[in-house]
Amino acid sequence: MTTALAGEVVAAADAALAAVSELTSCDLTALDERQLLDVIRAVEKIRRMAESFDNVTIPELEARGIPARYVLRGTSQFVAGLLNLAPSESGARVRHAHELGARVQLSGQISPPLLPGLAAARAAGMVTSKQVDVIIRCLGTLRGAQLPVDELAKAEMFLVEQAELFDAATLAGIAKQLLDTLLPDGTLADERLQQRRRFLSCVPNGEGMHRLTADLDTETAALALTVLHSLAAPKPSADGDRDERTAGQRMHDALRSVLKIAQRSAELPRSAGLPATVLITMTVEQFETRTGLAATSFGQKMSVDQALRIADQACVAWVVHNSKGGVLNYGTTQRCATEKQTLALIARDKGCAFPGCTDPPEWTEKHHVIPWSQGGQTDLNNLVLLCDHHHDRIDSHGWRIVMQAGVPWFVPPRWIDAGQTPRRNHR
Ligand SMILES: [Zn+2]
Repeated sequence: MTTALAGEVVAAADAALAAVSELTSCDLTALDERQLLDVIRAVEKIRRMAESFDNVTIPELEARGIPARYVLRGTSQFVAGLLNLAPSESGARVRHAHELGARVQLSGQISPPLLPGLAAARAAGMVTSKQVDVIIRCLGTLRGAQLPVDELAKAEMFLVEQAELFDAATLAGIAKQLLDTLLPDGTLADERLQQRRRFLSCVPNGEGMHRLTADLDTETAALALTVLHSLAAPKPSADGDRDERTAGQRMHDALRSVLKIAQRSAELPRSAGLPATVLITMTVEQFETRTGLAATSFGQKMSVDQALRIADQACVAWVVHNSKGGVLNYGTTQRCATEKQTLALIARDKGCAFPGCTDPPEWTEKHHVIPWSQGGQTDLNNLVLLCDHHHDRIDSHGWRIVMQAGVPWFVPPRWIDAGQTPRRNHR
């Protein structure tokens, strides 16, 4: 890099801007095909070289302490504000500059970039920003796995060579192969890397459902798979029919069970803080006609039937309001079984009470035999423990529950047993 006077740098920036401006206002019709393609290649090189100048300017900003003077959260936030960039864009630029730019030590000494080979190729306009991303991620993983320095340098040169031949998507595949070769025991050994990359989001998919996306660290993935698989096993019905749900649907239902279990655990007095409560609102017309869509406090819509089924469980608060928003009725703690009632239910049912089900009490919810919305009481003679799966199906498949001498019996629908002999769980 040449040393320049302040005036010369400003003049060079002005001249570059003027040159690009002149070029982009040119009429291209006079060019033959070969010339046209040459111009397009030259412009691409200009674009990449201009982008790579971030690797000079960002370290300069940091060496002077300028971002720290203006913002709390570091260089990325400063660059985003300065250039009106999305946080992801400015974050990538700063990440690249930290790997490809010169590093200023505390002593004021300048040391070369972490990835000198990639930095040179980038400055020469040979690689794109996306390719830089791929290479930095791959080398970051190798570095995290404590690969020796000379091996790292070899991997860097190899990837730079490949980047001059292949686009970013193909390069990502090559990088993956390289990782598999160099780290046959797994590529994400470095916990800190996982900590940085861990991620989960649940956002509306625009069709009334939500899309869950996640990169889980090893521990969370192990927990999730163990718990979800244990709950997602197929559950044959009492008449021996196969579970009609797909594997994906069973995993979805398992997640729902986990969340309900977590929510219920919060209703026990010994847990700290406020219980997690789903608040459901509906209008009096909806409540009386059982039609329309009720809303949860998170804004999801569900049918009034579905809402009442959820409201039938212990700790879900709900509100019925009139068209002007006035509250006419609301779910109170009277519907919530007390801890004593819960213990008595566990002693009686020992888990899901549905005939043949082996789910333990922790996986069950309290079902009102006569629905609470139809006047059913919250007492032992009207409550039964059911797992999420059987709670869902008890109505839809036509089963009926009758209490005989304080014990729940299940009356099968006629299409399963013409005599409708009551059955119970002989746990
Ligand atoms: Zn069950």
